[in-house]
Amino acid sequence: MANKRDYYEVLGVPRGASDEELKKAFRKVAKKYHPDLHPGDKAAEEKFKEVNEAYEVLSDHDKRAKYDQFGHAGVDPNFGAGGAGGGAGFGGFDFGDIFGDIFGGGFGGFGGSSRRNAPRRGADLRQVMDITFEEAAFGCKKTINVTKQEKCSSCNGTGAKKGTSPVTCGKCHGTGQVQTQMRTPLGYMTNVTTCPDCGGRGQIIKEPCPDCRGTGRVRRNRKIEVEVPAGIDNGQTLQLSGLGEAGERGGPNGDLLITFRIKPHEFFHREGNDVYMEIPITFVQAALGATLKVPTLDGAVEYSIPEGTQPGTRFRLKGKGIPYMNSGGRRGDQYVTVNVEVPRNLSSRQKQLLQELDDDRNYKQKKSFWKKLEDFFNN
Ligand SMILES: [Zn+2]
Ligand SMILES: [Zn+2]
Repeated sequence: MANKRDYYEVLGVPRGASDEELKKAFRKVAKKYHPDLHPGDKAAEEKFKEVNEAYEVLSDHDKRAKYDQFGHAGVDPNFGAGGAGGGAGFGGFDFGDIFGDIFGGGFGGFGGSSRRNAPRRGADLRQVMDITFEEAAFGCKKTINVTKQEKCSSCNGTGAKKGTSPVTCGKCHGTGQVQTQMRTPLGYMTNVTTCPDCGGRGQIIKEPCPDCRGTGRVRRNRKIEVEVPAGIDNGQTLQLSGLGEAGERGGPNGDLLITFRIKPHEFFHREGNDVYMEIPITFVQAALGATLKVPTLDGAVEYSIPEGTQPGTRFRLKGKGIPYMNSGGRRGDQYVTVNVEVPRNLSSRQKQLLQELDDDRNYKQKKSFWKKLEDFFNN
């Protein structure tokens, strides 16, 4: 506040400028900083306010006289103490008024798009659905309960009692807005406000529909059958167009958005469209080879592991993974990692057999490693 610029300087006019000169200067500077020309530019917005403030004071003969005598303190109630009374009060100053006039209403942003009687799209509804691993893999049908605003069937969304219909508001002729003209130092200014008779709706309902109390919408519980597509993944969202809240005044409905949460599976772990699992085998099975029963999404399949299978070996079961969504049945793979379990709590006879095995060095060990280790110690 203390650093407020001189109002004459703000408008770029000499102190003795005539009303006509002030007006001309104001139009020029205000147009330069108009927010429509600098969207989101705070500095321009500040300038714009400054310009408006300067003009409001200087265009008022009484305020201008006080300003000429006392400076800012003479006209701004917030400026220091000794205000000369009659605070300028800029709060009620409406940019829309002045610019409707200056730009001949050619600039959007004021009025127009925010009309209260414009059709409005209904809101989207969101739900989370928990499904099993298998349901996500192969798809399923689920029924959910949704409470939502729907078009009132008694009045077909008009809000008027059955047999009657809303009438066009006589005051605004259905536009929802009224214009008033005001004479100002700038000339006539058009002021657009919401129609007081219809509250901006453009129509007047004489007898409201008792079912929706004139709103045209009613809350309903609906059971909605959801077709969950095969291959849906955790966190993915299904968009059901038009199943959200009803639109208003003929606007389209919102959507119903369902986000899926997949419960963890006892054996399977999913990455993309591939399924991973670990399977424990005994160390004898690893050594001798074995035919294993491996669980898959299609049920158990037999899989033969070869003799001498090492711990951590991963096998691939092609096409046993999750279907790709909308791919005509193409599927990911299943990867099976074998964990070799080392036996515990052996009986003395078992221990003896193992010892015999170890003493018999004919079985295939990674000899090359031991050989290398020996070389390492000897060097
Ligand atoms: Zn109704
Ligand atoms: Zn009206």
